[in-house]
Amino acid sequence: MMDRRKSGARRRFRHISHSPAKAGAIHHSATLLRLVLIIAFAALSGWWPMPGSARAAVTITFLPGTVSIDAGLQDALAAALADAPQATAHSSYFAVSALQGADGWLIVSLAGFVQPDAAGAWSLEDANWVGIALAEQQPGGAWLAAVEKTAAFGEMLQRAPDTLLDANAKASLMPGRLLGPAATTSYRFPWQPGYNMYYGMFGLHAGGYSGLGDYKAVDFLSDGNTSAGHAPNQLLAAAAGSINYVCKGPSNAAIRVGEVMYLHLQITNTNLYVGRSFAQLEPIGPMQPGNFSDYCGWASQNDGWFHVHWAFPNTGSFQVSGWSLTWVPTSTVSSIPWVRDAVTVNPGQWMQADFMKTSYFPVVYH
Ligand SMILES: [Zn+2]
Repeated sequence: MMDRRKSGARRRFRHISHSPAKAGAIHHSATLLRLVLIIAFAALSGWWPMPGSARAAVTITFLPGTVSIDAGLQDALAAALADAPQATAHSSYFAVSALQGADGWLIVSLAGFVQPDAAGAWSLEDANWVGIALAEQQPGGAWLAAVEKTAAFGEMLQRAPDTLLDANAKASLMPGRLLGPAATTSYRFPWQPGYNMYYGMFGLHAGGYSGLGDYKAVDFLSDGNTSAGHAPNQLLAAAAGSINYVCKGPSNAAIRVGEVMYLHLQITNTNLYVGRSFAQLEPIGPMQPGNFSDYCGWASQNDGWFHVHWAFPNTGSFQVSGWSLTWVPTSTVSSIPWVRDAVTVNPGQWMQADFMKTSYFPVVYH
């Protein structure tokens, strides 16, 4: 059996120190005896790895990140990742892609990879898992960390100071509530209604993040020439939601809101932090024009042009304002059009983000 726990000692420490139920229980000697017997039985029966045992464990390797962290924090993150099967099921290399902190706590954005790239580094577009961890510095200086979607993360989230995350942000990040189902979300195109962006020549292409499901992506470009009807350089939220992952490089940034990733934003944007919520069509910020390349993404585009690499879970057909983008495995990706009624928009054509057409939504708006 593959055991993903890095250290049995750490696991016991975490249970006893941080679970209110167990912390109370150990004051009762009979319960304590029972706990010791359970641990002893578990160790003898082989599913509880003891320190120093030769049992296989997940090997987690950290790649250079967009920010550097000290060895103690890295060790705590490695231990937390080893306790997060959803993170390590598809990745054994990880990199820190953004940090934010307050009052001795940190929110650490992490990207996971099967392997580093040829240069021993990474690119966000090759990630097959992204997510966050919470880290708290203990009085002695050591770090305690937990990765999203785990019980330990939920417990830390509740204790985290409001200066780190307000109540709404905490609610949006609770395990089980972190991601909303894409299929039931009424997405809008993420730019100014009434204007056009150019549907990139790569059409519906591989989106990365395979550890999160089957992601696909599209590119939408503009030169900002609003007099020609081209969209101004302002990315809008396609659906309401909170940022739950950030990658901030030296030349461009990426975020995940709900399950949707938006790549190639300008790094000077102060909206790009975990917990920041957006209403649908609320401005997120400008995209990075021209050529750039760093961990969080790259682009080769004409001066003054900008684009969003928009990645979403592939549920077979992605719906935006009544338009459908249907994945056809046998077709050339660059031939997949957006279709609404009898109208199609192919890669290499301009797509208009229209104003709300209530006929495409089976609900009544007041
Ligand atoms: Zn792309």
